[in-house]
Amino acid sequence: MTVTNEIAPLLLIVSGPSGSGKSTLVQKILELPGTMPSISCTTRPRRATEARGKCYDFVTDAKFDAMVQRGEFLEFARVFSKHSYGTPKKWLEESRKKGLDLVLEIDVQGAAQVKQKLPESVAIFILPPSREELERRLRSRGQDSDEEIKRRLARARDEIAEFGKYYDYCVVNDDVERAGREAQAIVTALRCTSARWRTRVEKLLASFGGKD
Ligand code: 5GP
Repeated sequence: MTVTNEIAPLLLIVSGPSGSGKSTLVQKILELPGTMPSISCTTRPRRATEARGKCYDFVTDAKFDAMVQRGEFLEFARVFSKHSYGTPKKWLEESRKKGLDLVLEIDVQGAAQVKQKLPESVAIFILPPSREELERRLRSRGQDSDEEIKRRLARARDEIAEFGKYYDYCVVNDDVERAGREAQAIVTALRCTSARWRTRVEKLLASFGGKD
């Protein structure tokens, strides 16, 4: 048996306002061996830039509701008061079976639910360097109307106001390379916390003939 198999995988939550660059930082975390992504279900339509089944499992409202009824979600929420998003429990099961750290890219409402159900989960919040920079990034994507950008900025404000409640770590995404290294460093440090190694240490001590 390898050393890591004895340790429960991490459940990592990454949130941040739209335009904070959280998807890029999630990809950086997923570059670390021993991690796997959770693929959310959503009722929002697929964007032209999104490959089918890769970023999301796109489902109908009826299918989403049926999954809610069957208790298949670890958490779910309505985002931007428009579409539903949810994390299927199956990813948690798969992460435990495979011994891989699971990465959830979800909003603040979802993070609150996961933290309540699984307090051992670890939440990372991605902050934009400033409001001006966030607005500049949202506009440069050329994806949203003026009204939508205003809505996203208002929501960013609300999320930032909430972040102290649920989040354990914070990464300011002013430079994507540095922020990526920081996000990876958080995961590396979490993997080394002494509490996670207790069983291993007990076995090591036993191999020495046990404690005095
Ligand atoms: P988008 O539609 O731009 O991909 O995502 C909109 C928001 O929904 C983002 O803040 C994203 O993190 C969040 N989101 C994506 N998947 C989930 C999920 O499974 N649960 C929750 N609660 N939020 C999600």
